[in-house]
Amino acid sequence: MITLALSKGRIFEETLPLLKAAGIQVLEDPETSRKLILGTNSPDVRVVLVRASDVPTYVQHGGADLGVVGRDVLIEHGVDGMYQPLDLNIARCRMSVAVRDDFDYAAAVKQGSRIRVATKYTEIARQHFADKGVHVDLIKLYGSMELAPLTGLADAIVDLVSTGNTLRANHLVEVEHIMEISSRLVVNQAALKLKREPLRRMIDAFASAIQA
Ligand code: AMP
Repeated sequence: MITLALSKGRIFEETLPLLKAAGIQVLEDPETSRKLILGTNSPDVRVVLVRASDVPTYVQHGGADLGVVGRDVLIEHGVDGMYQPLDLNIARCRMSVAVRDDFDYAAAVKQGSRIRVATKYTEIARQHFADKGVHVDLIKLYGSMELAPLTGLADAIVDLVSTGNTLRANHLVEVEHIMEISSRLVVNQAALKLKREPLRRMIDAFASAIQA
């Protein structure tokens, strides 16, 4: 049995064409089913639905043989025990610094002020500001980062941006682009040895179906 860990939403939807290329069709729709383990047309392959931030944990500890996870989540979590054979080029977005449109970020940086930054991505933010030599106080949040500058909790946020609509709707502007994000395939290292043939076939099929 091969177990693939996916999160609901964009990653699940955008992984379906890759699975199809490997001859695998998921038999249930996670948006309508309450099941957490989904069967496929292949009796030896199943999909487990987990939170995006839990995908690395499942793969690392062998709860799943492989998974699809954003680069952001992987950097925050660490990659021990996992092999990362492919950038699947799906669920693309960028990690950015954003501030209120009336906050002069460049001046604050130039003056060497301590900037309060709210984010779910504390590791990425810590590295980014350390590389730039900017002093920051990081405030860990678990959701709706956009609210932090509007309420005075923080001066800036570090968050994922796709269309930019969420920032615009909240009078925030992007002031720094930290990195491009896309989702990667991660594979449990022990599983790759024990189930080498079927996993290799699946990885090769995914590789051939990646869109530029
Ligand atoms: P947008 O309004 O299109 O710029 O999307 C921004 C919102 O969607 C933010 O709240 C992000 O945290 C979230 N978001 C955008 N892209 C992704 C992604 N690839 N994975 C997870 N969350 C995302």
